[in-house]
Amino acid sequence: MTREILISEVGPRDGLQSIKTIMPTPAKKAWITALAASGLREIEVGSFVPPHLLPQLADTAEIVAHALTIPHLTVAVLVPNRHGAEAAIKAGAHKLTIPFSASETHSLKNVRRTHAQMLDEVRSIVALLRALPANRRPKFEGGMSTAFGCTYEGDVPADKVVRLAQELREAGCDEVGLSDSVGYANPAQIRDLVVRVRDVVGRDAFAGLHLHNTRGLGLANVVAGLEVGVEIFDSSMAGIGGCPFAPGATGNIVTEDLVFMLESMGLHTGVDLTKLFEARKILAAAVPTEELYGYVPAAGLPLGYRASAAGAR
Ligand code: ZN
Repeated sequence: MTREILISEVGPRDGLQSIKTIMPTPAKKAWITALAASGLREIEVGSFVPPHLLPQLADTAEIVAHALTIPHLTVAVLVPNRHGAEAAIKAGAHKLTIPFSASETHSLKNVRRTHAQMLDEVRSIVALLRALPANRRPKFEGGMSTAFGCTYEGDVPADKVVRLAQELREAGCDEVGLSDSVGYANPAQIRDLVVRVRDVVGRDAFAGLHLHNTRGLGLANVVAGLEVGVEIFDSSMAGIGGCPFAPGATGNIVTEDLVFMLESMGLHTGVDLTKLFEARKILAAAVPTEELYGYVPAAGLPLGYRASAAGAR
């Protein structure tokens, strides 16, 4: 039996929000179309934040409208608060993720809210969602950032992450995911925390791992996740984005390398690497001065490479 892995592409949101270049709207649309054509089934296409904070994502409503025209694609967006959730619902996004920082210091610096205030925000969004007819209600994820460590607080105790995950579920999030946005996680920590968080939120309510490759452990952490049964991973084409707290550091784990590793291991992603490289060309042309990462795109596919049996369509 081939295991199915869902790769959630976050480049158009996580990647583009942290680079200087503002990708023109037509290029974004073409890129997202190409990403979906490669077989990616979920793409985080933007974030509903005030345009003056993130001019790179000011066109999110228009991008969502475009992405919704692509068949069988789950269109995901980030929403920092209720206001953002209202805009996301109006735009018709399928999935909303609210970033919730396990480190309260990070939360205060990032969104100027305590954990209690963030949980109130979550409950307010849940009320908004539950008032919608069931067939128009997007899925709502609490994405727990700094779950494996924080640039302000250092260690973030696992007990605290587990408790907050439970509180997010109790507040009404459909799913809870774990993010290592600053690249502090190691494989042993991944195995331990995933098992503990999944125990409290429920297996079906675990939204997977969002990993960065800041210290080179990104794919090792994916393997650790696979070992404990994780089947959803976020990644970004070309690993764009970097780390806002570490100038020059690499960003998200690279979608191209992730697909190569998983397919080589016999896992099924549904993603065609050759088509993925075509999508990368669109990105490269649209943000020519930004650094693009990825070992497999640089080295090329090894002689005799075959996608997993189920992937060879
Ligand atoms: Zn990230």
